[in-house]
Amino acid sequence: MQSNPTTIVVDGAGVEALCQSCGVCCSTFRISFYWGETTAAEGGVVPVELTEQMNLYRSCMKGSSQTKPRCIALSGNIGESVSCTIYENRPSPCREYDVFDAQGELNPRCNQARAKHGLAPLNVRFVPVAGVPDHITLPTPEIKPGS
Ligand code: SF4
Ligand code: SF4
Repeated sequence: MQSNPTTIVVDGAGVEALCQSCGVCCSTFRISFYWGETTAAEGGVVPVELTEQMNLYRSCMKGSSQTKPRCIALSGNIGESVSCTIYENRPSPCREYDVFDAQGELNPRCNQARAKHGLAPLNVRFVPVAGVPDHITLPTPEIKPGS
């Protein structure tokens, strides 16, 4: 008998629900990207007023580079119920983060981030189902020096 049951996440909607009850990656890592992704540049979509310039080439989401990071675009309470208020216009690191790997294992950075917030580790696996979405993208954590 399995003493430590694993939750099976079966499709993209399941991943989305999982993340909407977590959100710690938006409150742990610096979310940085090429400044040209902001609306300050032609074709950019990330609202520039929600970002700060780090150097000539890089911007980050406001709030994500502070001592206790929290992206300004995150709404809700982490570990309970959260959402991204600029989901359609979120920057590339938020789109490219793989929550699960090809074997269905949770990205270890998720539980590393949860531990920083005193939240219990997620014990989940992803199992794709034919004909349903199997991929969503969320922030790529950037580990800050010393974190
Ligand atoms: S830390 Fe992982 S599980 Fe939690 S919201 Fe981010 S991607 Fe989803
Ligand atoms: S997904 Fe949204 S709330 Fe989370 S870090 Fe990216 S922009 Fe911020």
